[in-house]
Amino acid sequence: MRVASGRQSPQIGRVQELLSDIRACRLCAARFAATRTRHGPAPVVWLDPRARILIAGQAPGLQAHEKQRPFDDRSGDRLRDWMGVTREEFYDLANLAFLPAAFCFPGYDARGSDLPPPKLCAETWHAQVLKGLPGLRLRLMIGAYSQRFHMGSRASLTETVSRWREAPPGVIPLPHPSWRNTAWLKRNPWFETELLPVLRQQVRKALSRGKE
Ligand code: SF4
Repeated sequence: MRVASGRQSPQIGRVQELLSDIRACRLCAARFAATRTRHGPAPVVWLDPRARILIAGQAPGLQAHEKQRPFDDRSGDRLRDWMGVTREEFYDLANLAFLPAAFCFPGYDARGSDLPPPKLCAETWHAQVLKGLPGLRLRLMIGAYSQRFHMGSRASLTETVSRWREAPPGVIPLPHPSWRNTAWLKRNPWFETELLPVLRQQVRKALSRGKE
């Protein structure tokens, strides 16, 4: 977990306490021990009450689990390009907060496929975390799981993303930036020509607010 240091307000102190609790969480230990990877819980917590943009995604992959840093891979490169931000801006705690459906890598099943994020994680932590992020200006909903959970969408990912103009103000649904989704991007050229320019504009606006 990274969090602001120095002199802190009571609110930041409360959030730090919450983040320490999440970091120490071992609720899914037995579940993860039974996966093919037999790993232990290692929550990837990258949050700060100053954050202006929320990245709501699925769960850390193996690389994020090992590095203890979200999106520090090729998917992250693509996401940064979509958003029009540098790595420094992306990992600046005063800019972005990450709220995955589960804070820990869920592991692989016997066939080597990603296991779904444990629902228990969002049920246990999400409401408290969102209360501790009062400065959010923009919420990016990455993938069908976060679109179902945060937007209540029951439609397919393609339908939800293609109807991005109907999302609540300050919310933009996105596909996962995985390079495995390159074919999806080719099939849906409007994503690059219509949605991405608006996304970049909204990101810039969210990041510049309060700095003027
Ligand atoms: S996934 Fe969430 S609930 Fe499960 S151990 Fe990690 S932090 Fe705790």
